[in-house]
Amino acid sequence: MGHFCINCGAALVQRVIEGREVEACPNDSFVLWHDPKVSTAVVIEVDGGIVLGRRAIEPGYGLWCLPGGFVNDDEDPAAAAARECLEEISAPVELTGLIGVYHIPKTDASSMVGIAYRGRLGDGARPSAGAEMLEVGVFQLDALPPLAFPSHRTVVAEYLKSLALPVVEAPRSVRAGAPRARRPSPSQAPTQPRRKR
Ligand SMILES: [Zn+2]
Repeated sequence: MGHFCINCGAALVQRVIEGREVEACPNDSFVLWHDPKVSTAVVIEVDGGIVLGRRAIEPGYGLWCLPGGFVNDDEDPAAAAARECLEEISAPVELTGLIGVYHIPKTDASSMVGIAYRGRLGDGARPSAGAEMLEVGVFQLDALPPLAFPSHRTVVAEYLKSLALPVVEAPRSVRAGAPRARRPSPSQAPTQPRRKR
């Protein structure tokens, strides 16, 4: 599908720049670079387990995931990670380290650069489901549920490797300490995928 210049509105033309075939403006310097989005995920350590949320939105509705989300243009990634945690698990989170930085390839959307942090809950904080989660729970490391995203599985595997523990996924019935599910209202449970901010 053809695209248009955001400066002058001209139809973009194919050019080869730095060895890549790209769409560029014939009149000015605009190039439609396909840059990755930047996204964060946080492994929040609690009492020998980690905090997971069960998603109330697509993609991955009903599945468990690490708290986290997209980094806004004006945000430090660490600040974005803490903000997303506050939104998703309703608790302040202090980041304690970096687990890794990953390329997350996509064919149906922009690929992502994922930044995974280790963190802990703020003093006295108890996680509870934000609007984008059906429920949140603390899972022991040998009883983790299946996760919604391959990238989160990679992060958890890296985290477990850093602890020298084996990677085990178990049925969700064995989860410990999960608060009661809070169902979102219909307006909070869109059926269409949308970008989570
Ligand atoms: Zn132009």
